[in-house]
Amino acid sequence: MRDDPPTRYPLPEFRLFPREVPWDTPISDLSGWWLSSTCDEHGTVAYPLRLMAANLGWKRTLRSIVPKLKCKSCGGRPIKVELVEYAGMNDKHPGFREGRLVLIGR
Ligand SMILES: [Zn+2]
Repeated sequence: MRDDPPTRYPLPEFRLFPREVPWDTPISDLSGWWLSSTCDEHGTVAYPLRLMAANLGWKRTLRSIVPKLKCKSCGGRPIKVELVEYAGMNDKHPGFREGRLVLIGR
């Protein structure tokens, strides 16, 4: 049994969702949130930024990764990319307004 204090690590869930796109913030600082990418043909997929940081590097920024995002199915450029606070919770919590910022598209 270890008795480390439970509050050793700052949890990303405690961070406030930004009001403006944090283009130059390392994605490790955004790791509680998701990138939602929409392909015209294949619909929307949400990627946890925690996973993207692990795969692409913790110091990468949205400015460096968002322009390179591609649809996993067809390799096409997404018509819309958003930074979202939660993935797929809209239906379960009517009236709940999640944080959502548009990076590409409208
Ligand atoms: Zn596609």
